[in-house]
Amino acid sequence: MEKINKAPVGAIRILKIINSKGYEAYLVGGCVRDILMGRNPKDWDITTSATPKELNLILSEYKIVETGIKHGTITVLDKGESYEVTTFRIDGKYTDKRRPDSVKFTVSLAEDLKRRDFTVNAIAMDAYGNIIDENGGQKDIKNKIIRCVGEPEDRFNEDALRILRAIRFQSELGFHANKETEKAIIKLKDLLLKISIERVRNEFEKILIGKDARRVLMAYKEVIAVFIPEIRESFDFDQCNPYHIYDVYEHIINAVSLIDNNKKYRMAAFLHDLAKPQCFVMDKGWGHFYHHETKGSEVAEEILKRLKYDNESLADISFVIKAHGTVFSPTEKYAKHKLNHFGEKRLRMLIELEKADVKSQNPEIVDERLANIENFEKKVDKVIEENSCFSLKDLNINGNILFEIGYEKGPALGEELERLLELVIENKLENDEDVLIKKAEEDLEVRLAVKS
Ligand code: ATP
Ligand code: MG
Repeated sequence: MEKINKAPVGAIRILKIINSKGYEAYLVGGCVRDILMGRNPKDWDITTSATPKELNLILSEYKIVETGIKHGTITVLDKGESYEVTTFRIDGKYTDKRRPDSVKFTVSLAEDLKRRDFTVNAIAMDAYGNIIDENGGQKDIKNKIIRCVGEPEDRFNEDALRILRAIRFQSELGFHANKETEKAIIKLKDLLLKISIERVRNEFEKILIGKDARRVLMAYKEVIAVFIPEIRESFDFDQCNPYHIYDVYEHIINAVSLIDNNKKYRMAAFLHDLAKPQCFVMDKGWGHFYHHETKGSEVAEEILKRLKYDNESLADISFVIKAHGTVFSPTEKYAKHKLNHFGEKRLRMLIELEKADVKSQNPEIVDERLANIENFEKKVDKVIEENSCFSLKDLNINGNILFEIGYEKGPALGEELERLLELVIENKLENDEDVLIKKAEEDLEVRLAVKS
């Protein structure tokens, strides 16, 4: 038996307390896999022969939350960490393809390990670092393989979410599914339609940010199209354009893998060109995609609503999709205008999308376009660093002051503020209250003269 000693003291202490009362207890699942791989575990799962009722007594010194009593799970809170402690169990029949109808507690660790999804997730570790690996998980970690525990088709039929988990772990860990698992993923992909969309989305986001997202999204595109069917048209769609050497889908996936590794940006990249096929026209031997940005943002919105995205992410993503393809002028004035119109958060997101978009086009013409975006970004950085004025809220005059000097409330007042802002952005006027008031007074005189 291999021995390792990298588990946190908090977890080891819980294992030892349970052991001291005569029960078995182990770290299990993703945390053991991650420890063995030298990664930092995201969460801690403990499996034990004690029942939740018994655990309540054994662990009475801890704060305990009864998170899933029906499935034998309690959560133990300790010094800012939380530990999910679950009784050894065998899952009953699955009729909803997602959750067992019933669970049966067992006193056998081996049976508990058998119900787990993949061999790499079916390894246990005791309080002393002894590894219990009855399904070949360590060998699969070594060979970077995602393999179902048991028959893949049976396991996916029981719980279809495992189909996406299998893809997600490949992306996240850089592993490959073994032949049988891969075949079952493709064969049973439509079962995903029975899974709640929140769970699908959660796994899909992890697929997008995984280190092998590019490979996995190419290999399993038909699975992705089960829950985002709008993407299917882009598969193998020739762009007939010298700027593009990739088909639409491959271009999209390149952009996903090149943009910053965060869920929102990657989702924006995944959706940015999906309306290209429906907007395609040929002109003098060249392919064009007029208005695919607007159409794309509409389709993206529908998809994001269906995936139950929060309103803010939905609005940001559809905004940058609509705006993408902007050719930036690398000047400070232009940077201020864009900052004013888009806001910094969205402009930064758009810049990242543009960079990824350009980098995933024909490599022979990337440099010039990329340099232009980067020069523009430098101007944006400068405006922000210098705290320059680019919006009404930075302007050292406001509507109340204009009202005091004689402007009537209404459109004229707003127009005057915009005019003053424009002059400040153009460096034709200093952003100083006295200077702005003087100019506003002059403008008011002109207005009144024109009126009379
Ligand atoms: P992560 O690093 O994302 O936390 P994980 O492998 O720890 O990955 P969890 O969802 O935290 O995944 O689940 C913990 C463990 O529970 C898994 O490692 C696996 O042993 C088991 N498990 C989770 N979901 C399933 C499932 N759908 N079917 C079978 N076993 C599962
Ligand atoms: Mg986990």
